[in-house]
Amino acid sequence: MQLTPKRWNGVIEHYARFLPVTDATPVISLSEGNTPLIRADNFVAALGGGFELWLKYEGLNPTCSFKDRGMTLAVSKAAERGAKVVICASTGNTSASAAAYAARAKMKCVVLIPEGKIALGKLAQALMYGAVTVSIRGNFDAALRIVRELGETGLVEVVNSINPVRIEGQKTAAFEICDQLGRAPDFHFLPVGNAGNITAYWRGFKEYHAAGLTDRRPRIFGFQAAGAAPIVDGHPITHPCTVASAINIGHPASWAGATNACAESDGFIGKVTDEEILTAYKMIARTDGIFVEPASATPLAGLIRCAREGRIPTGSIVTAIMTGHGLKDPDTAIRTAGAEPFVVDATREAVMQVMGL
Ligand SMILES: *Cc1c(COP(=O)(O)O)cnc(C)c1O
Repeated sequence: MQLTPKRWNGVIEHYARFLPVTDATPVISLSEGNTPLIRADNFVAALGGGFELWLKYEGLNPTCSFKDRGMTLAVSKAAERGAKVVICASTGNTSASAAAYAARAKMKCVVLIPEGKIALGKLAQALMYGAVTVSIRGNFDAALRIVRELGETGLVEVVNSINPVRIEGQKTAAFEICDQLGRAPDFHFLPVGNAGNITAYWRGFKEYHAAGLTDRRPRIFGFQAAGAAPIVDGHPITHPCTVASAINIGHPASWAGATNACAESDGFIGKVTDEEILTAYKMIARTDGIFVEPASATPLAGLIRCAREGRIPTGSIVTAIMTGHGLKDPDTAIRTAGAEPFVVDATREAVMQVMGL
């Protein structure tokens, strides 16, 4: 018997016909995408059951967040234009992703991060991939303002989600969900920060439906953290503050995309407190063995609420995107776990005592 090699070569190759690429586009890829869609029955049972929940585990992308889907396209298009330097503002994951893809494209990468506000794993990534890492005394919104100004000089290529090709790449996650489920879900839950991803998902679900590949489009349910909920509150937040650092954004660039996704899909944008986020964060790790970063638990906190309020009809198929890996933010994990290792002598008896035997 002959084995037929079947490699996954990343989202540009797989979904080229839906993306703004040509044969002339150099593809800079780390084989991103093709992430698992994991059914979370124990979590649902803990909420009283009644629906199916499927988690798109985007933490298994090459730099451990969904940002890689947009970054492969942004850096490939930058390479096509002959760019030498890419720049972004980031709460962490965009910088990790930009740094990795820029390294592969032999470009210089400059990342602007808010001082003291980025999770340890993400900082390690940016530094390790060799990005010029600039910690600014200000928040994400200030960093993005500077990046926009630098972009206008024409000297650098901005790879934040204000770059429209980022959104194009990110929409491939919606395609994958439909391909994996064999249909579109009834509800799609996700966190909302700069609002690029909610914009991307809605576009992806719409395009697959328009292409006749799915028979429905999901209702989009986005959630912000209560301390950083400009869209829900209806005005920019000057000093956003949440434990979910990836969505600690007061002035989202794709604000209109988010409100449009909700309006067109008969969806909803809500907010959840840090306490609810951390409860969901710990719960999904313990019920189903899925470790995500705090921002990724935001839609689960929203789902807990919606289930309680009876907003999820029996038999619904619900998807939620787990945007980033839990190991990105070890500090919050260790604090939230609420447990420390037992330190004992190196004997069988000592271990048995800890086990209560
Ligand atoms: C970027 C990011 C988000 C927010 O996505 P937006 O497109 O900015 O709304 C959520 N979770 C994680 C882990 C992220 O990296």
